[in-house]
Amino acid sequence: SRGLDGSLPKSRSLLGSALARMRAKRALGEEFWVELEEALILSDLGLDLSVDLVESVRNKVYKEGVTATDAALEMLREEMIERLDHSNRDLNLGDAPPSVVLFVGVNGVGKTTSIGKLAALLSSEGKKVVVAAGDTFRAAAAEQLEMWAQRSDVQVVKGASGADPASVVFDAISHGAAVGADFVLADTAGRLQNRQNLMDELKKIRRVAEKASGTVTEVLLVLDATTGQNGLLQAQGFAEAASVTGVILTKLDGTAKGGVAFAIEDKLHIPIKFVGLGEGILDLVPFDPKAFVYEITG
Ligand code: GDP
Repeated sequence: SRGLDGSLPKSRSLLGSALARMRAKRALGEEFWVELEEALILSDLGLDLSVDLVESVRNKVYKEGVTATDAALEMLREEMIERLDHSNRDLNLGDAPPSVVLFVGVNGVGKTTSIGKLAALLSSEGKKVVVAAGDTFRAAAAEQLEMWAQRSDVQVVKGASGADPASVVFDAISHGAAVGADFVLADTAGRLQNRQNLMDELKKIRRVAEKASGTVTEVLLVLDATTGQNGLLQAQGFAEAASVTGVILTKLDGTAKGGVAFAIEDKLHIPIKFVGLGEGILDLVPFDPKAFVYEITG
């Protein structure tokens, strides 16, 4: 599979450029740590995490008697990789197929696109996939899913326009069980004008899905990396209401920052499982912390 090369469109990430400037100075003093903290904050890691990260690296650097900026920056990388140390980034599987994966997130973050991409990825691995077009309020969403599904031999179950999303998900799971599907990937609506409604609807979909299948093995929250720290607030709301088990961080190709990935894992303790690197069907890859850290610090 391809790595994260090229995920950031600028010749260099914001953080990478800052680190290059700091490395050139070759002095490890107060100014270095202040600059580092600023660079981390500007890259969307958030204030608390940036301060904490600098503190850890700084302590290690002094404890080990390191004096070269190069060595200090290498320690920064190690610390950043450690902060992304989730043991399990694979999709959770149920005891018996189909494993049901709910996708949640607000409109426009790339939810439908990510379902199409993940369906294609699983299908290319020989898995049988059924997609539930649960966003019945957006006709285009079902059409988009069908278009992508055709290309990857995936079946789409959809309801009439305005149909109860929970019933579409129920039908898709029943269909998935009948045809021996390995996965049912279910889209949900993401209208945010009424947050309580949205959260209630997600809870209902979950209840109904559990009735149809026994277990929802995964609830993937889709977040747009270009929204930075705002995305984090959104994530907190969903994490509480929908028992999110994993994150898909989209549009990493559209930002020079990307530090929100650290903030998500630090604040929510939810693993990022996949990242979106473009609009094409192949542009979804499993999240690789090491490659990611080298990319944004490089
Ligand atoms: P939804 O409303 O959450 O279902 O969002 P869509 O799946 O319709 O995506 C909204 C827009 O974001 C579309 O134009 C997608 O092509 C685009 N998009 C989704 N994922 C990515 C990504 O990883 N990178 C880029 N550059 N665009 C993306």
